[in-house]
Amino acid sequence: MMAGHEVIVADNFFTGRKSNVEHWIGHENFELIHHDIVNPLFIEVDEIYHLASPASPPHYMYNPVKTIKTNTVGTINMLGLAKRVGARVLIASTSEVYGDPEVHPQPESYWGHVNPIGPRACYDEGKRVAETLSYAYAKQENVDVRVARIFNTFGPRMHLNDGRVVSNFILQALKKETITIYGHGKQTRSFQYVSDLVNGLIRLMSSNYSQPVNLGNPIEHTIEEFAVKIKKLVGGPSKIKQIAAMEDDPQRRKPDITRAKTFLSWEPKVPLDVGLLKTISYFREELQMGNTSHHSRVLNENIRS
Ligand code: UDP
Ligand code: UDP
Repeated sequence: MMAGHEVIVADNFFTGRKSNVEHWIGHENFELIHHDIVNPLFIEVDEIYHLASPASPPHYMYNPVKTIKTNTVGTINMLGLAKRVGARVLIASTSEVYGDPEVHPQPESYWGHVNPIGPRACYDEGKRVAETLSYAYAKQENVDVRVARIFNTFGPRMHLNDGRVVSNFILQALKKETITIYGHGKQTRSFQYVSDLVNGLIRLMSSNYSQPVNLGNPIEHTIEEFAVKIKKLVGGPSKIKQIAAMEDDPQRRKPDITRAKTFLSWEPKVPLDVGLLKTISYFREELQMGNTSHHSRVLNENIRS
């Protein structure tokens, strides 16, 4: 919008919130429509960023059928829209297409190691078929597609009850509660700050590169290290404790970003601690305003048992 584009946001608010975009309401280039892309959408656009689908394990496991519909029927609708109006469409895929990977770090050429009937399958297989649909529409209907495989991302305006590790640990540390590690804590993740991701998505959309591209920060941490880091950055007396492991939890994850560097001249810029401090301040303010509930933690407990 700041570059002069008119933006139409379509959201069903299953995990998103109006408050995240409320500062744009009234802007001449902004329009918000309450819409679920499982239903057809007829509008006129030049570019489509298809970012729909819950992405947090407790959220997508809460309604796996809806997650599958969003990633299959919803993706067909976005590709159908792109086909009708001749728009370029960017599909938000995920590092979860690699499953619990046997290749490390993960290059885009790796086909993945996914349990098709496990608790994460609705998301992993949903995104895998979203990629398949994209290249089928590209081949058969000449739709211009871009596929971003997004690795773990965090930042301000994340939902306090998002249920993923960054928000859980920050919230636990701020509330002086025990920081809970699922399993032994030796599993790894690589975390990118949201503004790096947004820059990568915009670059991918404007590039000529149509194969999948990993967008993530290649600096890898064990979850145990991550818990210690957040405890230190927040301060306070929280203890760190191991509890039951998540079923099918990927054990190692780190993007190979050679493609993004080569074809998009992109790499993450924001250091982890800088991003975390911004996120911690945001969470602190949200807590002070009382914008929290125990909803997602209850969900977490149910899913792990
Ligand atoms: N679609 C949409 N918006 C459009 C054009 C299509 O939501 O502007 C939906 C349409 O309802 C259809 C889907 O996208 O179910 C796939 O479109 P496609 O043209 O591939 O399929 P067809 O209409 O031939 O079944
Ligand atoms: N995790 C954890 N405690 C939490 C939430 C997550 O130890 O409160 C672990 C989880 O088991 C996984 C990693 O942190 O190994 C990242 O989990 P998350 O749900 O954030 O995202 P994922 O990358 O698994 O989709």
